Amino acid sequence: TPRNKNFPQPQTPIDLPPQHIPLSASDYAYSLRANSPLPDSLALINSSTGQRVSYSEFTRKTQTLASYLHSVIGLSKGDVAFVLSPNLIQVPILYFSLLSLGIVISPANPLSTESEISSLIQLCNPVIAFSTSSSAHKLSNISLRFKTIVLDSPEFDSMMTSPVITIDRVEVSQSDLAAILYSSGTTGRVKGVMLTHRNLIATVSGNYAHRTERKSPAVLLYTVPYFHVFGFFYSLKSVALNEGVVLMERFDLRKMMRAVEEFRVTHMVVTPPVVVAMAKTDVTDGYDLSSLEGVACGAAPIAKDLVSAFMAKFPRVVFLQSYGLTESTGSAWRTVGQEESVHWGSTGRLLGGFEAKIVDPDTGHALPPCKQGELWIRGPTIMKGYIGDPEATSATLVADGWLRTGDLCYIDEEGFLFVVDRLKELIKYKGYQLEHLLQSHPEIVDAAVIPYPDEEAGQVPIAFVVRQPQSSLGEADIIDFVAKQVSPYKKIRRVTFVNSLPKSATGKLLRKDLRKIVFVNSSSR
Ligand code: AMP
Repeated sequence: TPRNKNFPQPQTPIDLPPQHIPLSASDYAYSLRANSPLPDSLALINSSTGQRVSYSEFTRKTQTLASYLHSVIGLSKGDVAFVLSPNLIQVPILYFSLLSLGIVISPANPLSTESEISSLIQLCNPVIAFSTSSSAHKLSNISLRFKTIVLDSPEFDSMMTSPVITIDRVEVSQSDLAAILYSSGTTGRVKGVMLTHRNLIATVSGNYAHRTERKSPAVLLYTVPYFHVFGFFYSLKSVALNEGVVLMERFDLRKMMRAVEEFRVTHMVVTPPVVVAMAKTDVTDGYDLSSLEGVACGAAPIAKDLVSAFMAKFPRVVFLQSYGLTESTGSAWRTVGQEESVHWGSTGRLLGGFEAKIVDPDTGHALPPCKQGELWIRGPTIMKGYIGDPEATSATLVADGWLRTGDLCYIDEEGFLFVVDRLKELIKYKGYQLEHLLQSHPEIVDAAVIPYPDEEAGQVPIAFVVRQPQSSLGEADIIDFVAKQVSPYKKIRRVTFVNSLPKSATGKLLRKDLRKIVFVNSSSR
């Protein structure tokens, strides 16, 4: 069939294994890694303790742990395991063991409150939970079929290292459920996104297709969490590409810079707040970052001025952007190479294996290039649905396998994607654009804009601004700076200075928390 001219041409096609072959996502990642000429190399480093795990140990540990979980504890295919942990070395080992057994992984943010956790548990219905010594208490009121296992404990160490009996291979179909990940819920209720082994295989395969051949393995520093789709698929992708991974338990910018220097990190996998800090503050001063070759950023919007400021400060570092959703198993669009990064403001071109269109949200008709509408995508990484929520599933997964992203976007003539705003959060003056404009001011480190009820106008934009430490910028300066550059209805009406902005674990602005600040402030006036 002829391609619809509204569909941008995808990048390198992906090479997927035939769908009928039983194959778990973990075995698929191992099979790609087997193509690497290096039989053994570094798999994981804990940046605070210096503990290292090589790939041969990683494989041994995942197998030993899998046989323990299966034959001693009694977990079986189709069971759900809830995981509540920061980025520890134990997490990818656990993921690989669970995937190889066909056990469904449901990871959540360890900073979730007990009531948030209990609603997640109701959604995914696990038989067992894995936690850490610092968050296990949050599970104390929850009773599951098996008792909670603490990952940073001597017991867990021995589960990974003392072989029990060898078990027969569990046959995992690619269509089997592999994970239930929680969509970010910056607005609305949290939903459990069901991803299959096939979804993960397709994402890993897409990333593998874009690998660059290297003399020595890449060393990655993740600041993205393993419980979010970004970190989740990276746990598989890094094994497939034979990458060494430096892990940080807690987000700390200076420690991150020290880790780049100490472990000669070649690539950082980050969300926009890290780029903001590296480009606009002195956090990088005094560190040797000469090993850094690339920074991959995604999960939330980033202003083009910020990308150019970053590239001016680190001219030798290739900056890559990607766009994706939990519902698309992570990245569906990405830039490749520095030449695409300077397609300013774009999050790149469509990955191989996907189709995309921009749809008029009112009529449902596809729109031509450069017209704004809702982005719809289709391909092998699109989720199976939301667990226990057929209504939300049918509202999001529409006819013929299309996923409605809920993002207002346009695609230019060359097939580059531009994310304009979230459809749901769209306010008539376009919050993202004002935020990006504010962030372009040299004395502004970060900024957010939300609507504020106004008797006359209905809603007016109010800004939250984080200033550079020595800045004496005042409210009037900021209102004036914006007013000179935008049409009158977009003018900022009020500015609140804050030390930091409320952000999710993947750097998404939590507008609902900002709204709370506004209302608390206005009611105490
Ligand atoms: P999540 O499921 O938590 O990954 O959230 C997905 C949403 O994050 C998307 O629908 C977008 O609104 C946003 N997002 C992800 N990547 C980008 C990006 N590169 N630029 C702008 N927004 C992004």
